[in-house]
Amino acid sequence: MAIRRATALCEQCGTKYVKCRFNTLHQRYCTRKNCMIKRRQERQRQYYRRTYRNDKQFADAERERCKNNIRKRREYLRKSNDEKLSGSPPIPINIDLLATGLLSQWIDSKDPMEVEQAARQLETRGRQLAVTVVCTGSAPDVKDF
Ligand SMILES: [Zn+2]
Repeated sequence: MAIRRATALCEQCGTKYVKCRFNTLHQRYCTRKNCMIKRRQERQRQYYRRTYRNDKQFADAERERCKNNIRKRREYLRKSNDEKLSGSPPIPINIDLLATGLLSQWIDSKDPMEVEQAARQLETRGRQLAVTVVCTGSAPDVKDF
């Protein structure tokens, strides 16, 4: 006759598991890693809350520890903010190079000839638009181009 082992549904993940034969009355969770971690965290939280409530010395020590950590975190943030504000001024970006890079990425080419050709086309297009704007009287004169 085969020995029938007690089974149950895990309260954490809901899967069926075989209970440990030495702990059939109290086991409520399966032995998967995540379930064991969750259960351990819950047990530690319960211990912490209970001890914090009942042990005045522990509560004082914890309060002091948290206060110190909060103070350290604020100091660190204040320091890093100060460094950000007092850092060297940003290096200016060359707009010509930026435009060339953008155009190169836009047409997906690193060939200087192709980039230049695309730039000429866009320049022509811009000139046409500028002429249109000049007709309304609000853009600069483009005769020199
Ligand atoms: Zn489980």
